[in-house]
Amino acid sequence: MKRLLLATNNPGKAREFRRMLAELPIEVVTPAEAGISLDVEETGTTYAENAIAKAEAFARAGDCIALADDSGIEVDALDGRPGYLSARYGGPGLDDKGRVQKLLSELADVPDEKRTARFRAVVAVAAPGHATQTFEGVVEGAITREVRGEGGFGYDPVFVRADGRTTAELSDEEKDAVSHRGKAVRAAIPCVRELAGCG
Ligand code: IMP
Repeated sequence: MKRLLLATNNPGKAREFRRMLAELPIEVVTPAEAGISLDVEETGTTYAENAIAKAEAFARAGDCIALADDSGIEVDALDGRPGYLSARYGGPGLDDKGRVQKLLSELADVPDEKRTARFRAVVAVAAPGHATQTFEGVVEGAITREVRGEGGFGYDPVFVRADGRTTAELSDEEKDAVSHRGKAVRAAIPCVRELAGCG
């Protein structure tokens, strides 16, 4: 069976990728499971550049198909920040909870109607000897005034969609069905199937 390496060290993303790729007749492995220790510096200035760099580095290291995403949250009141810098928002001293609190305090004076935001993901699929391909997914929403929900990761507890629930209040299946990553991964599946020879 062909192997697909998840080009991420983020456990939240790896969990979601695994669920969304479960339907494929392909062995899906994390870098840790493949014995690969690789930290790709995100030096690009777009999601696509960073996703491609990660997918290609892991595809080379594992000599197999690799799938990466680069993603982030774009807040309109912050002119689209933190965007592709979402994982580093607030500096290296902050964890997910700290970044969420920083976002809430930066938006403290922003009225409800101006708190619109979106999650964006660009998935890159790379394999030795093949041109790397990218796929994008977006989900629109807004930033809440307080954290809500236990699911997901990152900014999920403060990202609310039209139905009033944060993405941390959705079940795993509900989040996968509507999320930026879900949309990008579903768009990428035919490419993965073709590379794996199970198209
Ligand atoms: P990167 O793609 O590894 O540079 O990191 C993306 C960052 O954006 C994550 O660390 C999260 O903070 C945020 N992010 C991306 N996707 C999601 C999501 O589905 N839920 C919550 N936060 C997300």
